[in-house]
Amino acid sequence: MLPVIALVGRPNVGKSTLFNRLTKSRDALVANLPGLTRDRQYGQAKLKGQPFIIIDTGGIAGDEEGIDDLMAKQSLQAVEEADIVLFLVDARSGMTAADEYVAEQLRRQQKPVILVVNKVDGVHADAALAEYYSFGYQTILPLAAEHGRGVSTLVDTVLESL
Ligand code: GDP
Ligand code: MG
Repeated sequence: MLPVIALVGRPNVGKSTLFNRLTKSRDALVANLPGLTRDRQYGQAKLKGQPFIIIDTGGIAGDEEGIDDLMAKQSLQAVEEADIVLFLVDARSGMTAADEYVAEQLRRQQKPVILVVNKVDGVHADAALAEYYSFGYQTILPLAAEHGRGVSTLVDTVLESL
C-alpha cells in the first residue's frame, strides 16, 4: 500500500493547484470559483523517490447545504483514507470561520496534520504564519503552490513524518 496524502481545506485555498504540482498533472480543475472540485480526485506522485497517492478534495466550508454538504463528506472520507493530511489555508485572506470549522473537523480524526499556509507570494510570510499559530499545529509551513515556493520543504516534511 502506498502512503496516502489528503489535501483538505475550505474552497479556493489552492488545494487543486498543489495537487497538480505534486502529481504534475492538469487533471484537477483550478479556478477562481470556490468549490470547483466536487469529488475526491486521486493522483499518483513520486516525491523525492517515494511514490504516493494524493487525494484532492472539494473542500469543507462549514455552511454546508446540498452540494457543499456532499463535498464536506468527500473531504472527511479522504481524511479517513489518508496517512497524512495537508490542511491548506490562504495567507492572503487570513484565517476565516471556515478554516476554524475545518480545524475542528480535523481534530476529531486522529491523523497527523501539517498546516500549510498557501499563497505567501507577495505577502509577509512570517506575519501570515503568525496568525495561524493559534491553531496549535506542531508543523506550519509556508507555500506558494502556484509558483512552487515551499514545495520542496513540504515534501521533506511529509517524508519525515511517514
Ligand atoms: P481549491 O479550491 O482549494 O482547489 O483552490 P484552487 O487550486 O482551485 O485555487 C484557487 C485560486 O487560488 C486559483 O485562482 C489559483 O490560481 C489561486 N492560487 C493557488 N495557489 C496560489 C498561490 O500560491 N499564490 C496565489 N497568489 N494564488 C494561488
Ligand atoms: Mg479544487
